[in-house]
Amino acid sequence: MQNTCPDTVPRRLAETLSGIDGTWITAAGPAKAPRHKGAYLLLLRLAVAAQIDLRGTAHALPPGWYVYAGSARGGGGIGARTARHLRKQKTIRWHIDQLTTRAVEMSALAVPDGKECALVAHLLKTGHFAMPVRGFGSSDCRQCTAHLLAAVDPDPDLLYSPRA
Ligand SMILES: [Zn+2]
Repeated sequence: MQNTCPDTVPRRLAETLSGIDGTWITAAGPAKAPRHKGAYLLLLRLAVAAQIDLRGTAHALPPGWYVYAGSARGGGGIGARTARHLRKQKTIRWHIDQLTTRAVEMSALAVPDGKECALVAHLLKTGHFAMPVRGFGSSDCRQCTAHLLAAVDPDPDLLYSPRA
């Protein structure tokens, strides 16, 4: 059972993720973020196109909503990992840092004991996502084409309509 989805997450995206058993986290809270190990989905919105670098190759990402699937198996668990993602000021270390430092909206769905590759497969099956950059975030993964998904919908108005 999920806690309340942040207001900033558009309706279609919230509906698509509603079947995943997880806890929503934003930069504002909850203060006691889950210390469990597991996986998480990071949701972020680019207001303008972003040029990113992947092993020396430039890729242009159009504005829109993106979902990144990651895992946290270290000591601080999902809470510590997502807190870093949700912080804008940081040294660029991972592919995803190039997006979190430019996103205008961000939130995370923590999935204790989850597996990021299973989350990617689950989301792709819904038909509401595409993989814009091959290899993004999945250097160590043999299963997925990428761990970054772009939200797509034949009706962008529906995809971005506010839930309130
Ligand atoms: Zn994977």
